[in-house]
Amino acid sequence: MLVHICCSVDSHYFLQKIQEEYPDETLVGFFYDPNIHPYSEYKLRLLDVEYSCKQLGIELIEGPYALEEWLKLVKGLENEPEKGDRCTVCFDNRLETSVKKAIELGHDKFTTTLLISPKKSQDKLEIIGKNLSSLYNCEFIFKDYRSGNGVEMQGKQVKEHNLYRQNYCGCMFGLNAQREQQDKLTDELIYPIGQQIQPESIEERLELYQKRNELKECDIIKQRFLNYRLLNAKVIINKEVVPSYFLFYSTLKGKKSIGRVERVIKNVGYFNRDELKIISLDTFNQLANTNYTTVLELVYNPLSFDDELKLRAKITQNNHFDLSTIIILKEIPDAKVSVFSDFKIYDDVKEVLL
Ligand code: SF4
Repeated sequence: MLVHICCSVDSHYFLQKIQEEYPDETLVGFFYDPNIHPYSEYKLRLLDVEYSCKQLGIELIEGPYALEEWLKLVKGLENEPEKGDRCTVCFDNRLETSVKKAIELGHDKFTTTLLISPKKSQDKLEIIGKNLSSLYNCEFIFKDYRSGNGVEMQGKQVKEHNLYRQNYCGCMFGLNAQREQQDKLTDELIYPIGQQIQPESIEERLELYQKRNELKECDIIKQRFLNYRLLNAKVIINKEVVPSYFLFYSTLKGKKSIGRVERVIKNVGYFNRDELKIISLDTFNQLANTNYTTVLELVYNPLSFDDELKLRAKITQNNHFDLSTIIILKEIPDAKVSVFSDFKIYDDVKEVLL
């Protein structure tokens, strides 16, 4: 039997139940989910499904990440609510590709772990599955493992095996609508130009779950913390935008400051307003023990997040609550400086491996 898999949260318990009910079937998992966006999230969910299938002794096949094709299919349905017509097209696509794969591999049955997801319409999935069944002459196995204490059991499995519990369905349209409703930044779709792995980013989670895979025993717990994303920023001196690097947690009241460096103490330039500080690239290199030759090099290849925090601590006398803007420029300017920055600072929750 070919089992289409959407994520490990839905698949782990579902596969166990199918294994119990169909002991004579050879199960093959099929991860075909081009709806998942961004690609890093797709990789993360795949990594987790691989981990879960390995534990259950089930072979897993990855389908193509046909994002462009999927986008064409849902064109015009971008603003549909979750459980609406876009989701029907999404199910159609994933189930039809799955049944074709089942036939290709010589299976006579197929099913989907979407059936256990509390947010999906089982009725809709059953209709689609049955239609494909008669069209392709491959039996669709409809199972309601949700009812009874299914959801509770599923949750227990997720905790017990430290599986990755995503907090959105998958596509960028559903994600944007959900975050708008929650009045929350869609930080899943923000990726820094310098590719720094920032707190509670998908890339950070990928690292965490990769580590989990390598450890025999571990626990994943949650922590509340202050998160930050710089959306855009610039420094203008003598009417020209100059290369600049803003340290993480650089906040600015009003998001704009115009002034000049009035004092330089121990190589740190203190602005005459807004608690803003400027250091030269040379000072940065000394403090961080690096050899950047230009500020742009730093922009495109920054320090790791942890090293950047250590650097901030050095500049702010270990004030771990400091949120002042700290900018790295080629040199400390002796001129009027205009600073603009757009950022988000927000409370957030991250997972930590113990
Ligand atoms: S919300 Fe989920 S099911 Fe609906 S279209 Fe997006 S990814 Fe597919």
